[in-house]
This record gives sequence, C-alpha cells and structure tokens, in this order.
Amino acid sequence: MAGSAANLEDIHSVDLMTELLRRMKCSTKPDKRLILVGPPGSGKGTQSPIIKEEYCLCHLATGDMLRAAVAAKTPLGIKAKEAMDKGQLVSDDLVVGIIDEAMKKPSCQKGFILDGFPRTVVQAEKLDEMLKKQGTKIDKVLNFAINDSLLEERITGRWVHPSSGRTYHTKYEPPRVPGVDDVTGEPLIQRKDDTAEVLKSRLEAFHRQTEPVIDYYVKKGIVALIPAEKPPKEVTTEVQKVLSS
Ligand code: ADP
Ligand code: AMP
Repeated sequence: MAGSAANLEDIHSVDLMTELLRRMKCSTKPDKRLILVGPPGSGKGTQSPIIKEEYCLCHLATGDMLRAAVAAKTPLGIKAKEAMDKGQLVSDDLVVGIIDEAMKKPSCQKGFILDGFPRTVVQAEKLDEMLKKQGTKIDKVLNFAINDSLLEERITGRWVHPSSGRTYHTKYEPPRVPGVDDVTGEPLIQRKDDTAEVLKSRLEAFHRQTEPVIDYYVKKGIVALIPAEKPPKEVTTEVQKVLSS
C-alpha cells in the first residue's frame, strides 16, 4: 500500500483529476460482463475500446496478454510461444490462470470485456466456476459472425501498436502516416502469426474448438449475433443496439 501511495505523488495533477472524473462518471453505469467471440480478424479488438469507454469496463484480451508474456520471456510466455507461432491454442490452464488474475484489477470493478477467451468449452466451464465464486455471471456473449473468405485480407493488412493494442488496416483503417501510430507516433508492427499460412491453423482451431463455446452460451440464452462483415462504424452501431437492449 505504501508503495502505491508514494507512486501516486509522482502522477501529474491533471492525470489524477482526469482519472477521478472518469471514476465519477463510471459510478452511475450498470455493471456488465461481456464475452466477444469470433474468428481471428472478425473485429473484436477494433470494437473493444469503444465498448470499454462507453461502459467503463476493462478489456481483457488473452492474445495480447500472452504476446506480452512472450516478449518479456516470462515462464508463461516461454510455455505459450510454440503453440502461438503455429496458430494453435495454448493450454487451458495457462489462460484460465491469467484471466483469473486479471479480473481482480480495479479497472474491472464495473465488469469486463473478454476478447479471445473462453476459446474452449473447458475454459467456459472454468470461467463459470470462477464467476460463481464471486456471485456474478456473464451477461452477454457477442458473436462476431463473418465468412472465412473475408479474413485473410483483414489479417494480412492488420498493423498493431503493441503497447496500446490499437489496430489499423492498410485498406480499411489506415494510420495517418503508414507504419506509425496516430496517437503516440511510435512504430506499428505486423504480428508474426498474421500470415495467410498461420491463419489456416487459427481458423481450424476456431471452428473445431471455439464454435462449441458459442453453442454452450446459446443454451444459456445469452448470445447476440453481430454481423461482423459490415464496415467498422456499422458494426459499432450493431454492438450498441445489442448492449442497450
Ligand atoms: P480481432 O481482434 O477479432 O482479431 P481486429 O479487430 O484486430 O480483429 O480486426 C482485424 C483487422 O481488420 C484490423 O486490421 C482491423 O483494422 C480490420 N477491421 C476490423 N473491423 C473491420 C470491419 N468491420 N471492416 C473492415 N476491416 C475491419
Ligand atoms: P489472438 O490475439 O486472440 O488472435 O490470439 C493469439 C494466439 O494466442 C492464439 O492463436 C492462441 O495461440 C493464443 N490464445 C489467445 N487466447 C487464447 C485462449 N483463450 N486459449 C488458448 N489460446 C489462446
């Protein structure tokens, strides 16, 4: 505690005030616990920051967390790297552990957006157990539905700002300066697994292991269909319609 209080003294007043105002505005928002499910490139990461802002939720993307662990060469990252490079899923225990820990963050107080998790029925069951212990449950699952034939162009044209997770596309959402993040001016990167070749395995994993997760939640009556092949702004409108109902 003493450590975090000391750190607060080093934060600029304007940043503290901005955060205070954000928390005041958020205090009136209803809690929401959401899952975004869809194949790689369906637009989950593009829509998440918009939903996060609107409803004061935390955005937990297991892919981003795993990539950070790989880059930092942590024991978790070392275990996950091989499967990720091949476009296969990492083990259920690894991802369940990181989600369990991440959901405890203060930024998740009003709820969360799970992006890329759960990806197997075992993960969905473990998530249910975790939430049951907290006396909560998932409110809605947004199913980003899109034909596979559109995904290669989306994935191979994707550029990412690694530290913020901001996503661009050479054709659909180009940055102001090619290869440069609009906000920070830092370089953008292309993900190692964003190739046509690795996409094939990722899609295979999606259809075989993750589609059953959608059925799992359909049975609970909480799945909403999002037509993810529409342009980004129209997808946002569809998402807002679902979340306000
Ligand atoms: P996911 O998080 O589901 O893997 P992203 O949100 O990163 O997918 O989107 C994949 C790529 O497609 C990105 O380059 C993004 O800019 C672009 N994109 C996202 N949504 C759309 C859309 N509705 N129409 C066209 N391109 C999109
Ligand atoms: P993503 O950023 O969601 O496309 O995920 C990138 C890679 O991280 C996937 O291809 C998997 O190897 C791994 N990964 C991310 N989330 C999960 C998960 N919930 N379960 C298993 N593997 C995951």
